[in-house]
Amino acid sequence: MVDLQSQYSKIKAVVDPSIQEVMDSAAFINGPKVRQFQSNLENYLDVKHVIPCANGTDALQIAMMGLGLKPGDEVITADFTFAATVEVIALLQLTPVLVDVDPVTFNIDIEAIEKAITSKTKAIVPVHLFGLAAEMDAIMAIAKKHNLYVIEDNAQGIGADYTHTDGSKTKTGAIGHVASTSFFPSKNLGCYGDGGAIFTNDDDLAHTIRGIVNHGMYKRYHHDVVGVNSRLDSIQAAVLDAKLPHLDDYNKARRAAAAKYTSAFKDHPKIVTPTGRTQCEGICDTCDCHVFHQYTLNLIGVDRNELVAHLQENNIPCGVYYPIPLHLQKAYQDERYNEDDFRITNQLVESVISLPMHTELDDEQIDFITSTVLNFINKEQ
Ligand SMILES: *Cc1c(COP(=O)(O)O)cnc(C)c1O
Repeated sequence: MVDLQSQYSKIKAVVDPSIQEVMDSAAFINGPKVRQFQSNLENYLDVKHVIPCANGTDALQIAMMGLGLKPGDEVITADFTFAATVEVIALLQLTPVLVDVDPVTFNIDIEAIEKAITSKTKAIVPVHLFGLAAEMDAIMAIAKKHNLYVIEDNAQGIGADYTHTDGSKTKTGAIGHVASTSFFPSKNLGCYGDGGAIFTNDDDLAHTIRGIVNHGMYKRYHHDVVGVNSRLDSIQAAVLDAKLPHLDDYNKARRAAAAKYTSAFKDHPKIVTPTGRTQCEGICDTCDCHVFHQYTLNLIGVDRNELVAHLQENNIPCGVYYPIPLHLQKAYQDERYNEDDFRITNQLVESVISLPMHTELDDEQIDFITSTVLNFINKEQ
């Protein structure tokens, strides 16, 4: 699904000396590379505070701890996403409230959010799923109206632009009260191990979070709050700082690959290609509205299992993100849920398929993948 080796070979000349510098200085934890990356990422995102941490799941958890959410507080998030989002809500003994997604964007459904709000609701966690920004203006308006926090899960969306209704743009992760991201190797900005970060424009919240990531310490050996130990190590920061200047080009390469896939599948009666918001249809040359962490098709009347088998026979990797709605996962079942409220997620888990998506896809690979998919689907009928 990804080709991290080819990507590494192209930037080896920059990455290797950067790692070597860390080794030579032996500043493995909280070294200058971490601060350098933090500051460069703040500039890139145009956000006041980036607080690096150990991984994207920690980042979500720490963001929620920083906001002071308390057991029993309800947190609304999407039913169709990776489990990390709901996992940390449950771990903190908050009450996850899963809601359906939009059938076109796959992102959290705005009406479903409004329907799910109760007097206990404290936060909304939109996920910029597959690299497409959620409808942030609408979400922020709901949050303002009901006095809720918004925590953006930006693990799949780093580098994406959100276009506001007035046409201005903000990077995803710089819009909500706080945001989280992951630097897992296959993410759009990936390191060579685990890593993550929290973003916020709120000075007080940033201060609180900086203590939480470091055992709740604001002054050495004074533990004011219950914290965690969650650090980005200097070697990972060195990798990330070397890769950050390439992020826009990486996302551009993903978008170019997506555009080629889409032109091959366009107007096929059994294939719905990914689209974004109406301004750009998800693929446009002038902005980063969709950064294609995944390129995900929605199939209509195609035997997905057979298609997966056919692709595997042809040595084409593919993935099903995600095969089970979160509300049906054993760990997250809740008798208050009503199946009628999850129509879209229940359908998407049966019909989506993600094709290889990374920065190194060439035309020959894309042609082979698209023709293999089309051969199967056209033969099937
Ligand atoms: C990858 C991912 C995470 C978790 O990140 P880790 O670094 O693996 O902990 C959280 N949310 C979403 C949407 C993700 O894709």
